[in-house]
Amino acid sequence: MFIIRSGMAGWTIQSLIDKRMRVTAYCHNSRCNHNKVLDLLAIRDKLGPDAPAMADDLTPKLYCEKCGGKAVGLIYAPPTTGVNPYARNSNGS
Ligand SMILES: [Zn+2]
Repeated sequence: MFIIRSGMAGWTIQSLIDKRMRVTAYCHNSRCNHNKVLDLLAIRDKLGPDAPAMADDLTPKLYCEKCGGKAVGLIYAPPTTGVNPYARNSNGS
């Protein structure tokens, strides 16, 4: 058993929600290429707010809803609104 130090490691579901992080899951099946932004609130309901939410924690629990593949990758992106003054507002929110 390793102890996770504070910092980047040790994110929980709730900390991702608090930081408004956007977590996108990608299917590694090159013939599928399905990707979808994860519903963190639904995951919190399922796993609890204190559940670890690093990629190594979540990917074993995920599978592609399109092809059923278990090879899923995650990309964590910080919120974009208000961070970069040069970023243009895309439609949506
Ligand atoms: Zn897939």
